[in-house]
Amino acid sequence: MSVETIRVDLGRDLLRANDQVAAENRAACAATGTRVLNLMSSPGAGKTTLLEAAIPLLGRLRVGVIEGDLFTDRDARRIARLGVRAVQINTVGACHLDARMVARALPALPLGELDLLCIENVGNLVCPAGFDLGEDGRVAVLSVAEGSDKPVKYPALFRTAQAVVINKLDLLPHSDFDLPEVLSVLRETNPAAAVFPVSARTGEGMEAWCRWLTDFAGER
Ligand code: MG
Ligand code: ZN
Repeated sequence: MSVETIRVDLGRDLLRANDQVAAENRAACAATGTRVLNLMSSPGAGKTTLLEAAIPLLGRLRVGVIEGDLFTDRDARRIARLGVRAVQINTVGACHLDARMVARALPALPLGELDLLCIENVGNLVCPAGFDLGEDGRVAVLSVAEGSDKPVKYPALFRTAQAVVINKLDLLPHSDFDLPEVLSVLRETNPAAAVFPVSARTGEGMEAWCRWLTDFAGER
């Protein structure tokens, strides 16, 4: 039996208003020479752990973090423990960050003292991709524990990313995650993206990923 699929578009006005605020965020960060990354993934892919593992390896790079989460400030407290400026945005149930939320968080950060601002979006593979936050680049994080079909099922998120991190590589022997298949799908959906298979837990692959972060922060 055939299946009917109905396509819905996000309200155009809503997105236009968001884009305007995003442009203001982008200009504010550009004015201080701060490069901004928007990190997106499903819940539990390890975005916060990835930041925790990367920040100590970034040397003299001055990093700030905005943590997006539904209700708690657990992730921001984890980042702050590293001695890094971290601001928590609680979306109070909203399943993505938007530019206005980021605009409210920016004044809480010393932008003039930051080379790189990482915004950890709410864990969700769908709507975060539709909202420009004012970032200069996007990173999609995928974990081995989630299975290989995510880039096929959520192409928008993976298509708009400058880099894709495949995290939890240490779980590879215990899963049926098909790394060559995922790499080939990513090459098809987004040939320009840099792809980094890593384990934030063991440190495998982190050097190459941190080199990318450092280069990104240096592009002005
Ligand atoms: Mg997190
Ligand atoms: Zn959402």
